[in-house]
Amino acid sequence: DALTGISNRRFFERRLSEEVERWARQSGPLVCMLVDVDFFKQVNDQYGHQVGDRVLRQIASLLGQDLRGSDVLARYGGEEFVLLLPDTTPAQGAAIAERLRGRVEHSAFVIPEGVDLDVTVSIGLACLQPGADSYGPDPGAWLFKQVDTALYEAKETGRNRVVQAQMSGSSSTIIEQD
Ligand code: GH3
Ligand code: MG
Ligand code: MG
Repeated sequence: DALTGISNRRFFERRLSEEVERWARQSGPLVCMLVDVDFFKQVNDQYGHQVGDRVLRQIASLLGQDLRGSDVLARYGGEEFVLLLPDTTPAQGAAIAERLRGRVEHSAFVIPEGVDLDVTVSIGLACLQPGADSYGPDPGAWLFKQVDTALYEAKETGRNRVVQAQMSGSSSTIIEQD
């Protein structure tokens, strides 16, 4: 991705289908998260697009800080980032998502005017469980739909939070914040 230096959406989509194939063959759980900056339009509107761009670069760097070599981080588009974590359980994924959310919340985003912006993210999280066959013909598409819906719920229920899609149907879980 030209702005942030991380991977772009096309790379993510290729890796998603590769990781889903791998998941189907040998089946560790596969976690996906979709990260969206809260009220990002206000940053652009108040401080301009250059400041907005700097915020996006800093977020990309915060999200990538301690990933494993097998993890994928990409800019999905606009102010949305996506992560793919192979061989990661939902509980581990939730802990990682909560750590990333807190890291962004507690980071200083200092802009040229000397102001420290309050920047937060909302995160939708979902997982393909090993051995399960209830994801339809395209498990990757199913997974992405789940993270998208969970993210929407994180926005609806107040932002700056992680929502985990429920594997078993019913409703989703808002992860406890520190
Ligand atoms: P929400 O909390 O609901 O996500 O609100 P939001 O303001 O973040 O969401 P919205 O979709 O209204 O605005 C996203 C903004 O992201 C609008 C667009 O101008 C900005 N944006 C998208 N790509 C870039 C970029 O590359 N650079 C900058 N500076 N802004 C961008
Ligand atoms: Mg968005
Ligand atoms: Mg946003």
